[in-house]
Amino acid sequence: MIDLHTHSTASDGTLAPADLVREAAAQGLTQLALTDHDTLAGLSAARAAAAGTGLRLVPGVELSVRWEGLSLHIVGLNVASDDAGLAAGLVRQQAARLERARAIAERLRRLGCGAAAERALADTAMPTRAHFARALVATGDAADTNTAFRRWLRRGRPAYVPGAWVSLAEGIAWIRAAGGIAVLAHPLRYALGSAAMKRLLGAFRDAGGEAIEVVSGNATPHDIGIVLEQARRFGLLASAGSDFHAPAPWLAPGRLAPLPATATPVWSRWT
Ligand code: AMP
Ligand code: MN
Ligand code: MN
Ligand code: MN
Repeated sequence: MIDLHTHSTASDGTLAPADLVREAAAQGLTQLALTDHDTLAGLSAARAAAAGTGLRLVPGVELSVRWEGLSLHIVGLNVASDDAGLAAGLVRQQAARLERARAIAERLRRLGCGAAAERALADTAMPTRAHFARALVATGDAADTNTAFRRWLRRGRPAYVPGAWVSLAEGIAWIRAAGGIAVLAHPLRYALGSAAMKRLLGAFRDAGGEAIEVVSGNATPHDIGIVLEQARRFGLLASAGSDFHAPAPWLAPGRLAPLPATATPVWSRWT
């Protein structure tokens, strides 16, 4: 089993990197990519925990990028964690995250959720909307994180603030310059029409993107078929990643459908 998209406490996951690696090894995974949002901070602990187990740790990152006014996610796989250009880019992304988090907090204060705002800001150096959602649950302002997103945090809701992310093309360039492979993450989550999806896949490939998540999270067989066809049309390799954030009885790293036999796996590039 291979899982090339997961999160740790270095961003918005709930397991420390070493615990994530132990959990993945216990599940029998042979390869695990740690792909925290806009940071490589969890990689050294993950690498140390993977040493001596049967698990290959694939160093990764999930970049937030902007394209046609939208925020999209690009996973970089097998990036050199000491690349200076990528590190400098991630410093910029982190600054954009902090600035956006302050703006979200200000909106939440005005909406009467000041305690949740302070709690989220104090929680992490790499604030995401998931931190705000969890804080809103902890203070009793929302029943669950889904409600917090629907009521406040989603695009179009009163505490939504867009991030000043890197452009799609520049983000892909950072990944490639660090020796990595750029993967379009969870392509169906952007809910694009077919014309916009074609433009995106064209722009992604033209900028040097090489793979797409054919199997992601809780994809249905129908979803998998759609993305497999997009991969074939645009000549992209196929990746598989759970987007694991937190353990649940039904959720673990590596809990995802197998890649279809006709797909060319992205890991054929390094194994
Ligand atoms: P950000 O990158 O700060 O915009 O935060 C995005 C993160 O929030 C995603 O990576 C998910 O972990 C989480 N997220 C986004 N939408 C939802 C949702 N509807 N319910 C729960 N978590 C979500
Ligand atoms: Mn996340
Ligand atoms: Mn994502
Ligand atoms: Mn993710």
